[in-house]
Amino acid sequence: MAAELKTFKGGIHPPYNKELSSGKAIAEAPIPDELIIPLQQHIGAPCAPLVSPGDKVKVGQKIGEAEAFVSAPVHASVSGTVKSIEEVANFTGAMVKSVIITPDPQQEAFSGTPRDTENLSQEELRGIAREAGLVGMGGAAFPTHVKLTPPKEKPVDLVIINGCECEPFLTCDHRLMLERPEDLVKGLKLLMRAVGAEKGIIGVEANKMDAADALRSASASEPSVSVEILEVKYPEGAEKMLIFALTGRKVPPGKLPSEVGCLVQNVGTAIALHEAASTGKPLYERVVTVTGPGVKNPGNFLTRIGTPISTLIDAAGGFVGSPTKLIMGGPMTGWAQPDAGAAVVKGTSGVVVLTSDLVDLGEESECVRCSKCVDVCPMFLMPNFIVQATKRAQWDKAEMWGALDCFECGCCSFTCPAYIPHVDYVRKAKAEIAALKKK
Ligand code: SF4
Ligand code: SF4
Repeated sequence: MAAELKTFKGGIHPPYNKELSSGKAIAEAPIPDELIIPLQQHIGAPCAPLVSPGDKVKVGQKIGEAEAFVSAPVHASVSGTVKSIEEVANFTGAMVKSVIITPDPQQEAFSGTPRDTENLSQEELRGIAREAGLVGMGGAAFPTHVKLTPPKEKPVDLVIINGCECEPFLTCDHRLMLERPEDLVKGLKLLMRAVGAEKGIIGVEANKMDAADALRSASASEPSVSVEILEVKYPEGAEKMLIFALTGRKVPPGKLPSEVGCLVQNVGTAIALHEAASTGKPLYERVVTVTGPGVKNPGNFLTRIGTPISTLIDAAGGFVGSPTKLIMGGPMTGWAQPDAGAAVVKGTSGVVVLTSDLVDLGEESECVRCSKCVDVCPMFLMPNFIVQATKRAQWDKAEMWGALDCFECGCCSFTCPAYIPHVDYVRKAKAEIAALKKK
C-alpha cells in the first residue's frame, strides 16, 4: 500500500485550474511606458526616498532606504528617469508614496559583481538579504533579514522551503522549481547557514511531481536537504500547517515558527537570496502568473517590480470577453481589483482573471448552523461564532473564539452554504480588538 501523504487536519479541495499555466515556461514581461514603485511593499516601516524628480536611475539602484529594522529597501527595476514621487493607490487600495519612473528606450542590463558564497558568515548573509530588499515573496512580504534573525534563545534547526503553491491557479513557484532547481537548492543552503540549521526540507504538493523530481536531482549530493511530498490541499503551504505536516511540531497560537525551531521561506525568496549573495542582484523583478479563463494566453512572466497589471494582461493576450473579477494574488487570499491599474510589488504572485461561471455570486444569508466552517478551519477556530460576535460588536467574544489566530485562509467562506464572508468579519473584529487594546 502506498504511504499516506503528509498533511494537516482541516482544509479544503477547491478546483485548482493550474493546468492553464503550469506548462508555460517563464517568459520576460515587456517593460511598460511607466513604472510605479511603492516605497512600502513589505510588512513594516515605509522607506525614505533616495531620489528626486528628474534623477537618472540605473537598474538595481537603491531608490528607497529602510530606516527601521522591520523594513526593506526598494530598488529601481529599470534604467530611466524619475518622473515624480507621489501618493498612488496600491493593490489594497491604500495610498502609498511611490517613485514613478519613465524607462529609457535602451535598457541597460543589471551588472553585478560575482562573489564566492561559500564562506559568507551569518552576519554577512543577513546584511545581503537586507541590502537586496528581500521579503517573503509568497504574499505576506515580511522582510527576510528579520526572519533570519531569530531570538537567541530559540535556535532554528530546520529550514523549510514552501514549494506547495496550494492556491488555485498560481504556478510561478512550480515553474521556478522546475526551471531553476539548482538555484533553489543553493538558496536553501544559504538560508540554512544564515540561521545555523542542520537540515533543509523542500515541501512540494503531489500535483508537482515533475518539480519534485527536478529538485531531488539538484539536491542529490546534499545529504542535509530532502524533498518531501505533501497532499494536494489548501492551505497546505500556510506556515503552521506546513510545519505540522512535515515535522509534527505545533506552533502555539500567537507564536512564530522559530518557537519550534523552524524557518519557512518561499521558493522565490530562496532563489532571490542566492542571486543577491552570488552577484549582488537586489529584488527588482519576480515571476508572476497571469491566468484564469478571462485571459487569452495564460502564462508565467518575469516581471519588473512596478509594472502595472494592464501590461501583464496585454502580455497574456488580453481579456477574453468581459471579465467578472480581477484578482491580484490567488483567488483564496488575493485582493480584488477595481481595474488593471495597480502595480506589481515584491509579494505579487499572480494576476487571476475570472469569468462569471467561476465566480459564485451568492447572496449572504443567515447561518444554518451546519458547522462546515468549523470542520475545515485548519486553526480549529469557530468561524461561525466569530461572525456572530462581530455582528453583535462583542469584541471580547470575537477574541475568545479566536479572531486573532485566524490567518484569513478563506476555507470557512469557501465551504459556507450561506455565502457568509467570514474573512471580512474577522478583519473587522481584528481591527476593533486592536483599537480596544490601544486604549
Ligand atoms: S476562521 Fe480564519 S483560519 Fe479558520 S478557516 Fe476561516 S479564514 Fe481560515
Ligand atoms: S458554514 Fe456557514 S452556515 Fe454553516 S455553520 Fe458555518 S457560518 Fe453557519
